[in-house]
Amino acid sequence: MGKKILIVEDEPAISRVLQAYLSKAGYQVEAAFDGEEALRQFTSAQPDLVLLDVMLPGTDGWSILQYIRRRSSCPVIMLTALGETKQKLAGLNLGADDYITKPFNAEEVVARVNAVLRRPPQLLEHDGSRQYGSLKIDFAAHTVSLHGTELSFIPRDLALLLFLARHPNQAFRREQLIEEVWGLDYEGSDRAVDLAIKRIRKALRHWPKNEGEVKTLRGVGYQFCVYR
Ligand code: CA
Repeated sequence: MGKKILIVEDEPAISRVLQAYLSKAGYQVEAAFDGEEALRQFTSAQPDLVLLDVMLPGTDGWSILQYIRRRSSCPVIMLTALGETKQKLAGLNLGADDYITKPFNAEEVVARVNAVLRRPPQLLEHDGSRQYGSLKIDFAAHTVSLHGTELSFIPRDLALLLFLARHPNQAFRREQLIEEVWGLDYEGSDRAVDLAIKRIRKALRHWPKNEGEVKTLRGVGYQFCVYR
């Protein structure tokens, strides 16, 4: 059975197109046409993802997003009108996972839905922290714990780990890491990064290898890899 998508969109024509494309892509589809219906359906249908229009009669998209975020980490993609840049930023701050600008083509919407649903669920941030298998990083509290035990780091190593973990599966050159973590006026060598990574790896040595690791990319730099 395909994953369930709740489409919240008051314009019937747009809703119909989205329903058609998403069902064709193998999803189960539910549709709500105003804010109140959206809240009801969110509770009763328990969707795997919500496509949420901002401008709705009754309760607007932002209020619905807040309602959802207080209750679950269900991914939400906002549908915003062209040029609503401020709205996009507000959406990301309120915990939207992505946004799509209208007018859109339905294939793009399907591609974005696929992409968000492919993200491992632990990478969806909740309450300022993320879970990478048995490793939990709290970006708000600046703490790292493994199997429930808090690990200790010197401040610079912690800053480096938090930076890498914020960008999972993304490669960084040593110079980039120095710039991000040590700052532009740092005059030491790349060796400082290597030593910090070595200490981080030692601290994370009990993090199961099939969950993730800090990987060396020869000739490139480092990558915080997450496998599940
Ligand atoms: Ca609308």
